[in-house]
Amino acid sequence: MTLSAKDFQYIVENITDGVYVTDTNRKMLYCNKGAEHIAGYTAKEVVGHYCFHNILNHVDALGNNLCKSKCPLTAVISTGKTHESEVYLHHKDGHRVPVWVRATPMKDEKDEIIGAVELFSDISSQDMTKLRVQELEKLALIDTLTQISNRRHIESEIFNRIEELKRYKLSFGILFIDIDNFKNFNDTHGHDMGDSILKIVAKTLSTTARPFDLFGRWGGEEFIGIIRNVGKEQLPRVAERMRALVEKSHVKTDKEDLNITISIGATVAKPDDDLDSLVKRADELMYKSKTNGRNKVTSD
Ligand code: GH3
Ligand code: MG
Ligand code: MG
Repeated sequence: MTLSAKDFQYIVENITDGVYVTDTNRKMLYCNKGAEHIAGYTAKEVVGHYCFHNILNHVDALGNNLCKSKCPLTAVISTGKTHESEVYLHHKDGHRVPVWVRATPMKDEKDEIIGAVELFSDISSQDMTKLRVQELEKLALIDTLTQISNRRHIESEIFNRIEELKRYKLSFGILFIDIDNFKNFNDTHGHDMGDSILKIVAKTLSTTARPFDLFGRWGGEEFIGIIRNVGKEQLPRVAERMRALVEKSHVKTDKEDLNITISIGATVAKPDDDLDSLVKRADELMYKSKTNGRNKVTSD
């Protein structure tokens, strides 16, 4: 049996990885079902648009926008070489999704570059998160609005980590995270928009976290991240990555795109800490980020 062009089309359309095809001007020519699923945009919303027109809006792990300067497709089109990288794309719902991108040039029969093919796979810990959700729901440890761990779960996990630190010297740190000027979002755009923003921040934090780290809602517009296996030097880097990823998330309203920012306090646990002393220290550091202008990380 030989495969026809139609067979190949069926295969590309139905693979779980995302596939985008662009011309040399980065105008979208094709988008498969996998891409629709991963990024949330339908083929109709994407095809015919230029990929730098803020649809996909890839950023790197530090939140730098790649579309204008370091776009994988531009690199492929200008060099003719395959390019691979880990980037974060913008999901239509507003949150960031980490993807592994392989971009390859598309050539005609004369070997001239006529476009690029971007193949990408979702590398978020979402499958892990789904299992965790089912487990936690049973135990009432999940926050119903954001679907991430609630305060009770975070408290019990911090307690466990402190025990491990004391017994086995396993280092960990916590991030105290507070959304900036959140009251303004509620007052200007309504409580439902405030709720959407809480969900977007929760999703960005939980899907971009390493599988063994944990983010939960502490209360109101405050979150705590428990970051394992880190010392004083690495923890602020993790915090900075989270700050930058949230800063690059945005939510669309009828009139404008709202930018969301967070202030973070980051501290590594000490063997004589208890839950209260640890959280209090992180909260005070977060408060310093607020007084220093917000959208900042402060660590000790
Ligand atoms: P700052 O940058 O200093 O943190 O300012 P802020 O406006 O974020 O801080 P403030 O503590 O004044 O406001 C928090 C607001 O969060 C007040 C409260 O009405 C709102 N809030 C708390 N829980 C929820 C919720 O579940 N949904 C919504 N929509 N709003 C909530
Ligand atoms: Mg607050
Ligand atoms: Mg706040």
